[in-house]
Amino acid sequence: MSMQRATKIVATIGPASSDADTLARMFVAGVDVVRLNFSHGKAQDHIDRAKLVREIAAACGKQVAIMADLQGPKIRVGKFEQGKIELKNGEKFILDADCGMGNQERVGLDYKALPRDLKPADVLLLNDGLIVLVVERILGNEIHTIVKIGGELSNNKGINRQGGGLTAPALTAKDMEDIKTAMSFQADYVAVSFPKNATDMEMARQLANVAGEAYDHKPMMIAKIERAEAIPVLQEILDASDGIMVARGDLAVEVGNAAVPALQKRMIKMARISNKLTITATQMMESMIVNAVPTRAEVSDVANAVLDGTDAVMTSAETASGKYPVETVEAMSAICLEAEKSEDCKLDADFLNVQFTRVDQSIAYGALFTAHHLRVKAIAALTESGSTPLWMSRHNIDIPICAITPSIATQRKAALYRNVQTFELAKSIDREEVLKAAQNLLLANGVVQLGDLVVVTWGEPMGQIGGTNALKIMKIGEY
Ligand code: PGA
Ligand code: MN
Repeated sequence: MSMQRATKIVATIGPASSDADTLARMFVAGVDVVRLNFSHGKAQDHIDRAKLVREIAAACGKQVAIMADLQGPKIRVGKFEQGKIELKNGEKFILDADCGMGNQERVGLDYKALPRDLKPADVLLLNDGLIVLVVERILGNEIHTIVKIGGELSNNKGINRQGGGLTAPALTAKDMEDIKTAMSFQADYVAVSFPKNATDMEMARQLANVAGEAYDHKPMMIAKIERAEAIPVLQEILDASDGIMVARGDLAVEVGNAAVPALQKRMIKMARISNKLTITATQMMESMIVNAVPTRAEVSDVANAVLDGTDAVMTSAETASGKYPVETVEAMSAICLEAEKSEDCKLDADFLNVQFTRVDQSIAYGALFTAHHLRVKAIAALTESGSTPLWMSRHNIDIPICAITPSIATQRKAALYRNVQTFELAKSIDREEVLKAAQNLLLANGVVQLGDLVVVTWGEPMGQIGGTNALKIMKIGEY
């Protein structure tokens, strides 16, 4: 068996990647999670894509998770009579909440309350920071600005304030509808855009759980960290979420480009300590939108995210609308595999200092410790909910963690967990039968060979959710 990649790949799909053939090639190339970006397209587009993803994944014999990424309260300019304008440095320009079609002098706003959130000298960044406006004064519903850095401004481009602090609520009416759509196809993950505190995440989770009830489905909730205000309250946001996305696009605009790399490291570290997941996102392979190979800087960026300990690296336009969706995934996969060979990814003594009181958590870390010292071939976690492999995967170890579960939902969720591979095994309450079947499963999939040692964990009595309380060092072939 070739070496298994530990870092997972989240790929945004869109017009460039919504046909069966491209999707299948992307899955074979290594996509673990598909992101449906609700900022674009209609509900039916996402429903159709989700159906296709499930079909193609099944045909490829792979569990692929679906992440529904809500648009959130991204503030945007309106449309222009000519579709776009050219702003020159030093010119005056008005953002007008009451404006219809825009022109060279003014443009409308989709968030009518924006003038109330601003004051003179505030700096506004449009189109991901490519255009910079400085607020001169507020006149009723008009924001009068001076163009500091000009450029082309086209329909519906985003607006951020440097330093953050805009008060738009985290969940819009559209997001609430989109949550229902996402639950209709049981999205495994819901990513919430622009949350500013734990309450935003709790509200989103509650809406998702209510909408998911009819399908007996509870999604995992990912907080996209892309507001300046989210940084000081990161711990409470983590506590209210299952994971975070280092959403570098909007975050960089709010806190400044230069602050992002160190923040990425801190966020990933905090998330892992809190037993939460991380996705590193935006512009990772940007040049592959048009080129068949990445730049040296992009290769380093992906590799550094791996070394930082991210669960997954993500593509956006590269795979949604770029020319080389399959090549992008292939390149990312190769970079991750190579970076994982680094000494930094092999041994992680952190878990020796981890504080815990739970029995199941203690078994999870005991398995890591044992596996590391005995140099076993694999760690096999027999699990219902997937929490044991999640705890195990919060630490670096160069031994694969195999989540063996009867639950498809758990398999799909675990598609995002770093260094976790999943296998399906029917539920049984007979311990000897389960251990034998697990052994055969690992053998059949080439994870182990006769005579290899494996650390196995499970909960007794068997067949219940939670309660991992047993660990065995099994020699393959002894059953
Ligand atoms: P977006 O989020 O692609 O939905 O904007 C990611 C980011 O801001 O980096
Ligand atoms: Mn964003």
